[in-house]
Amino acid sequence: MLRVDEMSSHIEYYEEMRRARPYYRGKPTIAVDCDEVLAQFVPALCEFHNATYGTPALSARTFHSYKFCEVWGGTNEESMEKVFAFFKSPYFLDNLKPIDGALNVLSSFRDSFDFVIVTSRQHSIQDQTLKWLRANFPPGIFKDVLFGNHWTRDAPGPEIATSNKRSKQEMCRAANAVLLIDDSVKYARQCSTVLDGVVLFGNYAWNQLSEDESGLPENVTRANSWSEVARVLSDMRTRLARSQTEAQPLRGW
Ligand SMILES: [Mg+2]
Repeated sequence: MLRVDEMSSHIEYYEEMRRARPYYRGKPTIAVDCDEVLAQFVPALCEFHNATYGTPALSARTFHSYKFCEVWGGTNEESMEKVFAFFKSPYFLDNLKPIDGALNVLSSFRDSFDFVIVTSRQHSIQDQTLKWLRANFPPGIFKDVLFGNHWTRDAPGPEIATSNKRSKQEMCRAANAVLLIDDSVKYARQCSTVLDGVVLFGNYAWNQLSEDESGLPENVTRANSWSEVARVLSDMRTRLARSQTEAQPLRGW
């Protein structure tokens, strides 16, 4: 696993592109997950669950898995119904809080990067999601929002592929992203094979490595907060500016 300050050495794609095509001036695209990276989804879900069902008493620390039936019991299908009830509740519609620091960091790097949201959220909550994003992030922060539709009633679980789902890999490719910021170890592993790098965001119960797991891929690095993400982006920006300067004598070709 890389330290944050080593991350930029793996962000090579755009530098190579600039060397090969010095007239290229597009901003690199960074894919950003929504839940637990921009939105405090699990804390709101805990509040809803505790108020509605009482037991087991839940907090974000009890979520050792992001497959919720492994946390509160029952079947995956029953979990889906609980989550869809949460979607209709004020805990989701009115009280979802943003993650600290996200807005400040994204705002300060918007001149250097394009940010595209790639979320596994369902199409059925697309309108509510866009409304929440508009309320919490000013226009212009995100270039696009892509929905994976991973957790559906007919196919409850991201591991079940259907024609109306898009994997994180597919969404990152569609966005032409060079980097993904996501709290999921599984998505970090999957996307590390097609991206220059992945920032595994947050020090969460569900994204710790178990003892029988090997380490993370070399181009995946942890950032426990948005201030640590800012260090990665700052390093990328410096390297990109340097490569742009080096390419300047070739302008006009
Ligand atoms: Mg997430």
